[in-house]
Order: sequence, then structure tokens, then C-alpha cells
Amino acid sequence: MTPSYFRPSVDAMTGYTPGEQPKPGTKIIKLNTNENPYPPSPKAMEVLRTLDSEWLRRYPNPYADDFRHSVSQVFDIPHDWIIVGNGSDEILNVVIRACTEEKNKIVYPTPTYVLYRTLAEIQPTQVLEVPYNDDFSLPIAALVKAQGAVTFIASPNSPSGHVVPIHDLRQLATQLSGVLLIDEAYVDFAADSALQLVREFPNVMVLRTLSKGYSLAGLRLGFGIANPQLLSGLFKVKDSYNIDAIACAVGTVAMLDQEYKNECAQKVKNSRVKLTKSLAELGFQVWDSQANFVLVKPQPTNAETLYLGLKEKGILVRYFKQPGLADKLRITVGTDEQNQLLLMTLASLMQG
Ligand SMILES: *Cc1c(COP(=O)(O)O)cnc(C)c1O
Repeated sequence: MTPSYFRPSVDAMTGYTPGEQPKPGTKIIKLNTNENPYPPSPKAMEVLRTLDSEWLRRYPNPYADDFRHSVSQVFDIPHDWIIVGNGSDEILNVVIRACTEEKNKIVYPTPTYVLYRTLAEIQPTQVLEVPYNDDFSLPIAALVKAQGAVTFIASPNSPSGHVVPIHDLRQLATQLSGVLLIDEAYVDFAADSALQLVREFPNVMVLRTLSKGYSLAGLRLGFGIANPQLLSGLFKVKDSYNIDAIACAVGTVAMLDQEYKNECAQKVKNSRVKLTKSLAELGFQVWDSQANFVLVKPQPTNAETLYLGLKEKGILVRYFKQPGLADKLRITVGTDEQNQLLLMTLASLMQG
């Protein structure tokens, strides 16, 4: 045996497998990692063209205050209720590092965002996965019984696309003594948000990102909203200069351009309705989605066969080879043109 340089928890983990990321410019239809098919706000892109070298010579603001003020304005929340992260993934990581230790645990219903598990496995803490009920209703009693130091709920959830009703989240928050983190990465495509719960409960944080709704996955900008008491421990743990000056400047303008974001989200939602209908007409089982993707169970052709067949034709979708998901595909909603090509390719693969 070669000696290990790592902590046992790191040796034991497998590491996250991100969705395939072909080089920009590769001729491929990318429906595998839930990016927005539309470009970012033109006003935000204009910021890049007027970039001042002073921004890069100096260290950035440690709290990304310009961006916090833009969030404060848009959501009518005091700026000290906001923490900004290098993607919302960083905030997930900071919460885990700040709240967990050997003798407590991280709890979340599954299937959900696979990164929760990866981030938890790095730390010397325990993980409890509680399966969703078959109809994707929240297993509240089991989650309460577990009393996690942190409980993660993605809503809309990935890969199912369902929204967890706010009264379920409220019931959970009331009965948990640890942190309840509601991950709203896909909220821009949904009808409802649970944001009001941060005012009702001292242990609730709502997490948002610019990666999906704002078409800025490459910028790496996310934020959490919670009362300052809950944020205080997180500020101690995060890197001091976690948001670079460019991300802060571009993100601030993108946040303020709600009109553009909402316009793009509306186009995605319209396309989602059409795509859902067409996939059902192909004979697939399609789950109702409030996000910018749909979970489908293809039939009669097997999911992995279709995934590989699509890939060969230059269309990437997400296939999770794991219990409960191995017969399903998660397909990001693209432009109508991209969705049309997907549908035609699926139809031909199923005939062949
Ligand atoms: C995409 C996604 C995120 C990650 O967002 P970043 O801000 O890009 O790190 C977080 N949670 C869920 C459920 C996601 O799907």
C-alpha cells in the first residue's frame, strides 16, 4: 500500500463528477448542466468593456458590497442579511465547514443535487440521506427525527424539478434546531419562493445563484439570505476575498437588470411547456417541472441507450447511473430550435 497524504474522509470519497463541459465553440447542443440558453444581460456585458485597471490592481471588497446592495434593492432586504459566494456551491461548502463536526450530521432528501454529498464527505461529519416519497412529497417526519446540524432542501429540486410547498418547509423549520438551507438555484423559473421564511425563522437560509436564471454560470456568483446572526459564523469561515472584482461588478448590473432576466426566464418557461408536451407525445413519462429542465423516463427505449445515442449526434443530456435514476434522463430546456432538434433526434433514435 502506498502511504496516503490525505485525511481518511478524503481517501474514502469518490469526488464530484461534473457534467461534461465541452470547449465553447464546440458544435454541440448542451442540455446537460442546466445553463440558460440565452446570453447574459447586455448591460452586464457592457461592464466588461469599461473595466478599469484599478479594479484589478487592488484587492476587491471582502463582502462584495456593491453586489449586496443590488440584491438588497431588488429583494427589499437589508444588505447585512446577504452573504455572497464564489457560486452558491461555495456557500454550501462554507455552511458545512462552519456547522458540522464528527458528532453531528448533514441531512437531505434524495434524489437531489449530488454535490451535497461530495461536500459533506470531505468533512469529518456524518451524512443521512432520506429518500423522497414516491410522489416527491417531503418526508418531514424522518427529516425532523434526524435533527441535522444542517438540512439541505433544493426547491425546485434537481433532478425532479418539483417545488417543495412552503407550508412543508415552514413545518420543517419549526421542528429543526439546526440550520435549514433552502437551495433556490432554479427559483427564477418557478412560480413560488420560500424567501419569506428567512424573516420568520432564525435558522433558515435561502440560497440563490446567478448561474441559471441570470445566464452567468461562468462568472461564479451566488448568494445566501439569512439573518445577520446566522451569517456571522459563515463570514468567519469564508475566504476573505472570495468574490473577485470583475464578478462583483458584472453581477451587480446583472442583478439590477431584472427585466432582462425575467424576459429570458419567461421564454424558458414557455419552451418548457412545449417540450414537456412533445416528450409526453413520444411516449415518455415526464415529471412536472418548475425549473429549466425536465426529468423524463423514456420508454420503450432504455435511458442509457438514448443518452449515448444523443451524445453521438452531438446532443448532451444528463444521465445519472444511480439507483432510482438509471431509467431516467434530465434534459435542460434549450431554445425552441434546440429542443426541436432534440425531439427529432430522439424520435429517429427510437425508430432505429
Ligand atoms: C446549479 C446548482 C447550484 C450551483 O450553483 P452555482 O452558483 O453555479 O455554484 C446549486 N444548487 C443546485 C441545486 C444547483 O442545481
